[in-house]
Amino acid sequence: MNITFLGTGAGQVTKERNVSALGLKFDEDKKWYLFDCGEGTQRQIIQSSLSVEKLDAIFITHLHGDHYYGLPGLLSTKKLNGSLSSLTIYGPKGIKKFLESAIDLSEEDLGYKLSLIEYLFNDEFFFEKFSLKVLALVHSKESAAFYIKESTQGKSLIIAGDNSQPEILNKYLHNLDLLVHECTFTQEVYDDLPEKYLHTTARDLGITAQKYHVKNLIVNHINPRYNKKRTLNVEMIEDEIKSNYKGKLFIANDFDVYNLSTDEVSLL
Ligand SMILES: [Zn+2]
Ligand SMILES: [Zn+2]
Repeated sequence: MNITFLGTGAGQVTKERNVSALGLKFDEDKKWYLFDCGEGTQRQIIQSSLSVEKLDAIFITHLHGDHYYGLPGLLSTKKLNGSLSSLTIYGPKGIKKFLESAIDLSEEDLGYKLSLIEYLFNDEFFFEKFSLKVLALVHSKESAAFYIKESTQGKSLIIAGDNSQPEILNKYLHNLDLLVHECTFTQEVYDDLPEKYLHTTARDLGITAQKYHVKNLIVNHINPRYNKKRTLNVEMIEDEIKSNYKGKLFIANDFDVYNLSTDEVSLL
C-alpha cells in the first residue's frame, strides 16, 4: 500500500506545508481513501498522483478546522468534474450538520450519492481491502485514530488524529507495522508554552514507539514554528524522536509518498 501526504502542517497553512490530509491506496485497487481534509486539500490532490474521481471514502479524525474545512470545496469540485461515483464520509458527531448546512445554504445539487456516517469510538468498518477500527485519543476536542488492517498481506497501521497521549493506543501498538502520528512540539518548546495544548511532543512519541517496538513511524502535524527560515527546524523533532526510538522514522513533507509492502517503509 502507498500513503501520500497531502498536508503535514499543524493548525494553519504555511509556505512549506498545507494542513492535514493524507491518501491511502492499496495495491491493485483503483480506489483510494482520504484521511482528514484540511482547507486546500483538493488543490493538493490535483498536484499529486491521486484524483478526486477515484476517491471512495473520507475519514475525518476530529472537528478542528485544520482537519476538515476542505470538505465542502472538494465535494463541489467532484460534481464540477462530472464525477458521479458515490462517496462516503466517516466523521465524528457534527460532521452531518456541517456538511448538510454547507450543501443546503449553497443550494448545491451534488448529483452523486453522498453518504455521511457519524462513527462512535470502537466502531469497526469493513472494506474490500481492509478493516478499520475507530479508537479514542486525548485532545482538546474528541479525536480519533483509525486502526487499519489489510485483508490480504495482513499489514497493520494506525493513522492518528491530534493526540496528547500516544500511550493511549497501547493495545494496538505492539509490533505495529506503521504508526502515523502527530508530533507538534519538541519537549523544550512545549515546556515553555504559557498555555498547554493537548498535542504530543517528540520525546513522548519516541518513548512510546520504542516501548511497543513500533516498526515504522511517520510523523506529521508539524507546528509552523519548525521551518527552514527559523532557528527551530524539523531536524530538532527528528533528533529528539531518534534519541528515544530506534525503529524506522520519517518526518513527512507534503507530497511525500511512502510504500508499506515490506517490513520497512520506504519513501518513493
Ligand atoms: Zn490539528
Ligand atoms: Zn486538533
